[in-house]
Amino acid sequence: MTAPATPVSSAERFVDLHMHSTASDGLLAPAAVVAAARAAGLVAIALTDHDTLEGVPEARAAGEALGVRVVAGVELSAHEGDRELHVLGLHLTRLTVLEDRLVALRATRRTRAAQIVEKLRALGFPIELDAVWREAGAGAVGRPHIARVLIANGWAKDHRDAFDRLIGSGRPAYVPKQRLPLSDAVQMLHEAGGLAVIAHPGSDGSRSRLETLKRIGFDGVEVRHPSHTVEDIARLGTLADYLRLVPSGGSAWHGAGDGPRTIGNMRVPHAWLERQDALVRERTTSERVA
Ligand code: AMP
Ligand code: ZN
Ligand code: FE
Repeated sequence: MTAPATPVSSAERFVDLHMHSTASDGLLAPAAVVAAARAAGLVAIALTDHDTLEGVPEARAAGEALGVRVVAGVELSAHEGDRELHVLGLHLTRLTVLEDRLVALRATRRTRAAQIVEKLRALGFPIELDAVWREAGAGAVGRPHIARVLIANGWAKDHRDAFDRLIGSGRPAYVPKQRLPLSDAVQMLHEAGGLAVIAHPGSDGSRSRLETLKRIGFDGVEVRHPSHTVEDIARLGTLADYLRLVPSGGSAWHGAGDGPRTIGNMRVPHAWLERQDALVRERTTSERVA
């Protein structure tokens, strides 16, 4: 006989608020991501595909069937001078407003993928653009798709090798993404009813840096992420409280074959999601009053 499930207290419930699916460069379909979350014992996830919300309805439907809450999210790449910074939008509500703008960003991703393929061909790798389109399917195309084609043809050993030698920042086949100014990204997410969260700042997340980002309008900071050291996590957690930025975190899981990235392994407490919910409620109330 199976023992009845032990009720878990809020302190023992975990969430994963940074996940990718085939809607961008992940390997699993949105519904399969949610099923994996259920199997890992998570109570909620945020689907945060790059420059798209197209996976959200399917993930939501799966979440309703499986009892996993699905937060509508997105990961944008913004620029500040020459520096690229990732921005997570979480708890988005006005999805169609945002989706209209993301369509344009996805078109620039396709142009960039074609430019990267041209560079690779000039470097002596006869990669076919069609193979990249096949790898990306209907999803927002990104460098991980190009990396998979390079690997399949034996031109790179693995993802790391592909990025380190060819398509990573500053490497010979690198092409930067179109520039989306940081403040525009934040504004876009606010207009879509969501919170703007600084994604994986790592060692860059100093007090003065986070203060500057807070002034730009950021609501939160990703504290737990696989690229963060134990020291980063401790510092960012303290600074989040001090600067009144809501904490967030997740595995940035892309499916299998992601090395240290495993669904749910960032042990993000449900209490952090509750803090985000409280901030969203506060915003909605003040909007109604205003
Ligand atoms: P893109 O959106 O096309 O610029 O691709 C960015 C994605 O590529 C990131 O979200 C990571 O999943 C992956 N990526 C970036 N840098 C590396 C790297 N050095 N090694 C492996 N994967 C990387
Ligand atoms: Zn990704
Ligand atoms: Fe990122």
